[in-house]
Order: sequence, then structure tokens, then C-alpha cells
Amino acid sequence: MTDIRQKILAAINEERDTIVAFLRGFVRERGPNPPGDTRSTAAYVQRHLDAQGLDYRVIAPMPDMPNIVATFEGARPGRHLVLNGHMDVFPVADDGAGWSREPWGAEVVDGRIYGRGAADMKTGTTASIMTYCLLSRFRQEFGGRLTLTAVSDEETFGPWGARYLMEHHPEVHGDCLLNGEPSGPESIRFGERGPLWIEFTVRTQGAHGAYVHATKSASKIAMALATELEALTSLKGKTSDNIQRAIDLGRPTMDRMMGDGAGDLVENVTLNIGTIRGGAKVNMVPSSCVFEADFRLPVGMSKNDLLPHIAKVAERFPEATWREVGGSEPSWCDPDHEMVGIIQANVEALGRPRPTPIISLGGTDARLWRHRGIPAYVYGPYPHGMGSYDEHVDIEEFLHIVRTHALSAYDYLARG
Ligand SMILES: [Zn+2]
Repeated sequence: MTDIRQKILAAINEERDTIVAFLRGFVRERGPNPPGDTRSTAAYVQRHLDAQGLDYRVIAPMPDMPNIVATFEGARPGRHLVLNGHMDVFPVADDGAGWSREPWGAEVVDGRIYGRGAADMKTGTTASIMTYCLLSRFRQEFGGRLTLTAVSDEETFGPWGARYLMEHHPEVHGDCLLNGEPSGPESIRFGERGPLWIEFTVRTQGAHGAYVHATKSASKIAMALATELEALTSLKGKTSDNIQRAIDLGRPTMDRMMGDGAGDLVENVTLNIGTIRGGAKVNMVPSSCVFEADFRLPVGMSKNDLLPHIAKVAERFPEATWREVGGSEPSWCDPDHEMVGIIQANVEALGRPRPTPIISLGGTDARLWRHRGIPAYVYGPYPHGMGSYDEHVDIEEFLHIVRTHALSAYDYLARG
């Protein structure tokens, strides 16, 4: 067993330049979403699998958003591990304003690869692809099954990527999921908060701006309503003891990685008023005001727990109506699962600090597995410049992620 682990590490070291070149080429294949056309990005991945002589299927319910699924069996029956990563990336805003490097150039500067998607998440998806290819060479040495899902349509939480696969292709469910979304190598994410988006509309009669006695102001009512909704941020989820323990232990790590206070958000509902539009002119009392509230649910809470509280606040504002416009339930799995221990041991063996299980503030496709009761863990690079400018990944950190995924996938299958 140790022998195979050494062979895996040796292969990564020998093929280091090829692996780095793969990631750089992957970044250059773009795939911004919107619009989410990932055909050339997927073709790039397919060429790599072809070159390795590996079979795969392309599942494309939306032709310009293909998903690649590959699977192989080990030497004996055993557990089924699924590797998942997305191929689409955020767009580059404002013609690349703020970027000091070409956003799609994958330029190497000071040991870092710069480009949109370098962190989110072509590093992680490359780790999945390389893990799949490497382990396929040693398939006689372990049991079970390994599946690779390289998907589209993630950045806008669209329906044509992992969500489609999970709904229509149960063969990608597996017993455990490993994903390399940007998270930071000092953490392992075992859960994530869930967004709940509500649009509120306030309507009043409206009037000339001087006639404030003649009508109520839709914008003032909207502001009062938004202020009262803030009270809902004191609500907390109900978690089991081991989840609560992990949340408490993860708090300092979250504060260090995401800024002071991040760890305290985990247990509560949070609220952001993302948009507000009201009034037509400065000298008119607005007759309508629409705002969108972005609630985030903690683990241990479902949207059906929060909706009655929202209804209760909104009831006090008879001029307001509201409707749900999007979101997804929070998700979590066992922070003490075997895979967590496997990742921790491998990261330490590779000479880095033991990563701490934490809850993610943002969302990933890993939630789709957790929603089906399948444990799903995220271990990826730091999110440098994610969704912003000068996105990049440190090359040594990227290779560390590849090593950790490959060793952890092997350990999970070899022990099963
Ligand atoms: Zn991502």
C-alpha cells in the first residue's frame, strides 16, 4: 500500500511540468458563465482523457454545456468514490479592469499562474482529472470504483451541470465525494450555508413630491421593512453535538481565512439587501419599490423554518407582497468521517498543517451530494482573486492539492 502511495507521488513529480501545462491550457480555454458555453473547455479535457486511453461519456442536456463522466472499477468490489469539479468560470468584468495580467493568459509570474478560473476552480478540477488518470494506472491495486464528473453550469447554480447528473444519472452518486473548490489548504469543508432569495414589492398610490400628506411612500415602507427583517439574523440552526463541536473548533480557522467575524456567522441567519429599486424621480413620492433580500441559512435550518418568520415580519406591512426567487437548502455531512481523517493525515504527511473541518459561507456543487445523504468534502487552494481581478494560484499549492486528492482517493479505495 505504501508502495503505491510512493508511486503516485513519484508520478506527480515526474509529470510535474505536464500537470502545470495542463492547468495553464485549461485556463486559456476560458468558459465564462454567463454565457456558460464550455464546449472548447470540455473538448480540452476530453483530449487529455483520450491521450491517456481512458473512456468517458459526454452528457449534454444543453448542447453548449457538456458534462464529462468517466468511471472505472478497481480489482475487487468496494466503495465508490466520486471526484467532481466544474469547468465553467466567472466572467471577466469590465474588459479586464484591475487585472495586471491578461485574464485568460495563464501567465506564470513568481511561481503563480494568473487567470480567470485559476483558483475557482480549474486547480481543483485539474486535481480531480489528474487523480482519475493517475489512479487508473494502479486500478489492479485497490477495490471499488472511481468516477470523475467534470461539469458545466456551476457558477450560476444552473440546472444543466451537476444538478442534471444527480437527478438523471444515479451512477454518479457514489458513497463519498471529493471536490477541489477553492477553500484554502488549511480547511476541509464539510458543509455550506444555503441562500434563500426573496423579492419584496411595495406599492402605494404615489404623489407629487410636495404632497407627502397625500400618500405613503413605497420606498420608505421598503426601508422600514428591510430594517425589521434584520431581526431574523438572531435565528440559529439546530445542530447535533458533533456538528456543533466542529463549528466551534473551526471558528478560529474561519476568522483567519475569511476575516474576523466569519466564524460567528456560521450559526446564524444572515441578511444582505442585494438590490433596491424605487421611485421614478426625485420630486415624486414613489408608488413602488422592489428589493431583493439574500438570506443565508445556517446548517441545521431549512428554508421552511425561516419562511414563517419572514411572513410574520411582512404581515406588518400591508402594502408589501413577497415571493421566493431562488436559493438552495444548506447542506452538511459528518465532520468526523473517515475521509476527513484521510485528508488530514495526507496533508500532514505532505508537510503542511493539519486542516480543520469548517462550514463554507458560499455554495458549491458538493451540496447536491450532501442533500442526498452522501458525505461530500471540499479541499482546494486559496481563493486568491476569486470573482475579482488577478485571480491566481500558487503552483506549489496547486501541486499540493493534486497530491492530496490523489493520495486521499487512493487511501479511501484501498481501505474499502
Ligand atoms: Zn467554483
